[in-house]
Amino acid sequence: MHRTSIRAGARAALVGVAAGALVAVPPAHAAEKLHPTYQLAKQNLPADWYVAYRVVDRIARANGLDSTPWRVDVVKEYQINAFAGENNLIAVYAGILDQVTDSSSAVACIVGHEMGHHVKRHTAVGEAEKAELVEKLRAEATREVDQEKVAAKSEREKSTMGSIVARAAGSQVPFAGSIVGSSAGEAIEKRSEARDKESQDRIEQIVAEKKAKLEKELAEKGRQQEFEADALGYRYAAAAGFDPEGCIRVMEVLSQTPGGELDTEHPAAPKRMEKLRELMAQEPAADLKAKGDAALAKDATPLTFDLARDGKSLRINPAAGGSAAEDLEKRFDR
Ligand SMILES: [Zn+2]
Repeated sequence: MHRTSIRAGARAALVGVAAGALVAVPPAHAAEKLHPTYQLAKQNLPADWYVAYRVVDRIARANGLDSTPWRVDVVKEYQINAFAGENNLIAVYAGILDQVTDSSSAVACIVGHEMGHHVKRHTAVGEAEKAELVEKLRAEATREVDQEKVAAKSEREKSTMGSIVARAAGSQVPFAGSIVGSSAGEAIEKRSEARDKESQDRIEQIVAEKKAKLEKELAEKGRQQEFEADALGYRYAAAAGFDPEGCIRVMEVLSQTPGGELDTEHPAAPKRMEKLRELMAQEPAADLKAKGDAALAKDATPLTFDLARDGKSLRINPAAGGSAAEDLEKRFDR
């Protein structure tokens, strides 16, 4: 509510003071300067896709990431999140875009972060995969308990043998009579049932311990990957000429999101922000931008775009451009 009133106030002031200036600049003026490919994108793509396309185009060309296609999708759900999906997909939720709607630099950091996950081949361990890992742990635990059982049995046999031999030696009672009575048989069976129950409990206990360790490791790995993707997101966005404060802005949004202040499989947002600040001091945005500018100057041709063959994501084509059909004709028909 508070924010709404601030925005409304700001807009009113702008209309009051600068309405003339706004009218004096014909909307076509900015569009005229746009490269025809960007004009085409602006006219044909939904606004969010247009922004995502422009951001990917610029980041990819500034950072030498333009040799393979990228895909972008805006997920129409109000979640403060984005993810790197299969086959170079960068999926951004409408919720997070809505929260940074005025900042292409923030969008660039989100997109750059996901591109970083792809470049580093980070893979999240899904539920099915985790279940499979737990099954492996169970097999491991069962093996361990079996081995313990074998070891315990041979220990028992050794000591039983020892006492039988000792008794036999002392009383001259034949071996068989001393162990194969019916009551002795029942006792052995009961003992082995108890041992089975014991083994099962022991297996469960080992599985629980191993699972807790696995989850801890996965979470730690996940957090490391997030830091890595954050760093790449910053580097990519800065090289492409975006404002590095955009990355801080994203962290602010994340830290306001319930749970964002906690360490989970993602590090807590304040920690991520701290690391970003450290990185910005070590690798200043201006230096990164100089490198990006050099790459962009080599070829100013925008990447082209298409509806991907899945029919629902936007494909941003590699710098080589063109279709396989055109490539074929170039190779053989000229
Ligand atoms: Zn991430």
